Order: sequence, then C-alpha cells, then structure tokens
Amino acid sequence: MRSNVDDARDRVLAARSIAVLTGAGVSAESGIPTFRSNGGYWRKFRFEDLATPQAFARDPKFVWAWYEERRRAIAASQPNAGHEALVAMENRTPSFTLITQNVDGLHERAGSRNLIKLHGDIWIVRCMTCGREHEERAALTEFPPKCGCGGILRPGVVWFGESLPAGAMERATDTVRAAEVLIVAGTSAQIYPAAGLIPLALAGGGVVIEINPDRTAFSSEVHFALHGPSAEVLPWLL
Ligand code: NAD
Ligand code: ZN
Repeated sequence: MRSNVDDARDRVLAARSIAVLTGAGVSAESGIPTFRSNGGYWRKFRFEDLATPQAFARDPKFVWAWYEERRRAIAASQPNAGHEALVAMENRTPSFTLITQNVDGLHERAGSRNLIKLHGDIWIVRCMTCGREHEERAALTEFPPKCGCGGILRPGVVWFGESLPAGAMERATDTVRAAEVLIVAGTSAQIYPAAGLIPLALAGGGVVIEINPDRTAFSSEVHFALHGPSAEVLPWLL
C-alpha cells in the first residue's frame, strides 16, 4: 500500500492538470453520513420516499424535515483534512478542477475555488412556482417553506430522475478528458452520469486514482486503488 501511495503521489505531483471527483465519503470524517455505506441514510429510509420529485409532491413536509436535519448537521460540521488537501492540491496544480456530487458546501468552506457541483447545493432553495432561487442558511421555521410569491420552496439539489444543472456535466466531461490525472474519492460510483466520468478518463488514457475504504465497481480497473479514509489518504498524495 505504501509504495502504491508513493507511486500515486509521484503522478499527482508531476501532473499539470488534475480533475477530482468526490462523493459523500469525503464528508464522512466531518460527521456527515454517506448514502450507501454503513450508517448511511438509505439504510434507514428508502430513497424513493425522500429524494424524488414524486416524494416531494406527495409529502413536502416529510422531505423537508429530512433535508433540514441534514442542513443542521452540516452547519454544525467542519471541513476535514481531505477537503483541505484538495485546496492545497488546487494551489499547486496549474490546471485543477474539483467535480463534486456533494451538496453540503464543505469544499467551498474549505476554500476550493474551481468547483463543478453536479448535484446542486443543499443551501439553495428554489420556488416550484416562479422558479426563483436563493441561498437560505437560516433554520427553517415553516415546513415546507414558502416563496414571496406564495409558491412552495424545494431544496436546490438534484433528485433521482432529474437532470443535472445545465452545462455541469458538459464541463465535467471536458475537464476529465483533458486531465492527466483523475482522483476519485469517497464515491460508491453507482450514480450516473457522474460515475461515467471514471470510464471516460480510463478510455482517454488518464491516470485514475481511487480513494475509498471499500471496493467499488471500478477498483480493479483504476491504476491506483488506495483503500482508506479520504481524510487520511488525500493528504498523503501531497
Ligand atoms: P454513497 O453513499 O453512494 O457512497 C459513499 C462512498 O464513500 C462509499 O463508497 C463508501 O465506501 C465511501 N466512504 C465511506 N467513508 C469514507 C471515507 N472516510 N473516506 C472515503 N470514502 C468513504 O455516496 P455517493 O457516491 O456520493 O452517492 C452518489 C450520489 O447519489 C450523491 O451525491 C447524491 O447526489 C446521490 N444521492 C442523492 C440523494 C439526495 O438526497 N438527493 C440521496 C441518495 C443519493
Ligand atoms: Zn416564487
């Protein structure tokens, strides 16, 4: 493992362009539960009951209660050493793009700048009637919250069955195609189109480094599968 890490670090330090794809696992050590791993939300709930437009239409109060619980947990958390290592990597790499599936905002709070958010942002609320959106960090007082126009506000995240924010996947695809190294950290790589960035990098000849305590469907295909928590392994790459 150690020599594997040393080889991966050499590739990272030599690269002029790096793309990174993160998932819920990079926030695990900030105390935010992941979706599919042990202790993940989906062990307790069915995603069909929480993260779909149909679920929200059926019971917006229930869905908002769950999002608000997550929002409070995130507000009380701090970026971890993994988030911070990615900021340091951005600072020393000529071309660096962080593509995240996370909606928690911890990458921004750590100081990452060139960021593509594939799945939206839990701090944005959007009106289902007039379509206006704004940042809302205060604790909700009304479930569901309402817009000035009287419409119901929804979380500004991408739910199952919805399309990604305009242009986000195109930018991510271009970035991954152009990158010498793709680092994939803390994602089960089961949700598409985001997971499709991994075979795209492999097909294009990029070096792919996966960081995850568990194996994923791509572990045997990537160049480096570094098994461990991202808050520990990401700093090793610098
Ligand atoms: P995931 O829960 O599917 O996978 C998390 C991964 O992190 C696992 O592979 C796990 O082994 C790994 N992990 C756990 N602890 C770790 C650590 N300390 N360091 C590194 N890795 C660790 O999460 P995902 O892959 O991000 O899921 C993909 C997307 O599915 C999510 O971004 C989300 O958009 C979507 N999703 C959304 C909702 C929603 O409410 N909108 C619900 C479920 C899934
Ligand atoms: Zn409105």
